[in-house]
Amino acid sequence: MEVWVNLSNKAFPVPGKLKQHGPARIIAMCNQKGGVGKTTTTINLAAALAEYGRKILVVDFDPQGALSVNLDADYQDATTIYDLLMDSTLDPVAAIQKTSIENLDVIPANIDLSAAEMNLVTEMGRERVLDGILKKVKNDYDIIFIDCQPSLGLLTVNALTAAHGVLIPMATEFFALRGVALLVQTIDKVKARTNPSLELDGLIPTMHDSRTLHAREVLARLQEAFPTVVFDTAIARTVKFPDATVARKPITQFAPTSVAAESYRRVARELVKRGSAA
Ligand code: ADP
Ligand code: MG
Repeated sequence: MEVWVNLSNKAFPVPGKLKQHGPARIIAMCNQKGGVGKTTTTINLAAALAEYGRKILVVDFDPQGALSVNLDADYQDATTIYDLLMDSTLDPVAAIQKTSIENLDVIPANIDLSAAEMNLVTEMGRERVLDGILKKVKNDYDIIFIDCQPSLGLLTVNALTAAHGVLIPMATEFFALRGVALLVQTIDKVKARTNPSLELDGLIPTMHDSRTLHAREVLARLQEAFPTVVFDTAIARTVKFPDATVARKPITQFAPTSVAAESYRRVARELVKRGSAA
């Protein structure tokens, strides 16, 4: 049985239609730990916001390319984010692909991106390359999500430099808290050096198993340590997510009436209510 994991009874209203689109708020999805739900949250939050009529671009910024695969993008023959990083004469608009979901577009990545950190090191303004790319496309979107790789290296610094806000998806497991301090340090460094207005938009608890005392304790600790930062909706652990991945669909299309789909819609409405999205 699926259960709701709302941390309060707050209502987050369905956002009204936008009269015009853009310029986008850019949000980096970051956590240097792998397998915590970054890509899953990027896809499903993006799809939920697209359902609410927001124009969304998701940028695959992980050489693993899971976002591209899961959205059924062409990541082999098409122009990827790596090509854009390496050649500033390329038009980023031409690299944008439509997905099967209305209002949701993607710039793909593949394993080539793993060479980017090394190749960018000698560049002037190496932290601002992604920023330069996204500036050229942001007027066409309401929100741009960057699905970061699990590291705090130069690619993630590029994402944080290009972003207005950071969202941290975090599995409610042991060790979850350990990494946050390091991530917050990185965010502070980027604020001091390349992006003073960067904001922490929130921490989204994921893969939450509310039946275990342990997970409930981790969540309580998170709320205690970051009271206003933690989202009011925790995403439950359910096999529906891996199943949706296999079907290459967001949960909102794979199981539209499920609690899992509704929980990402609630996160989407909360993001708008918090003022972190149009
Ligand atoms: P990351 O991008 O942080 O590495 P992913 O989003 O790829 O993490 O998730 C890792 C794995 O966990 C994937 O197989 C995904 O389908 C699965 N997963 C993500 N969220 C959930 C969830 N809420 N419940 C169960 N499995 C999940
Ligand atoms: Mg990922």
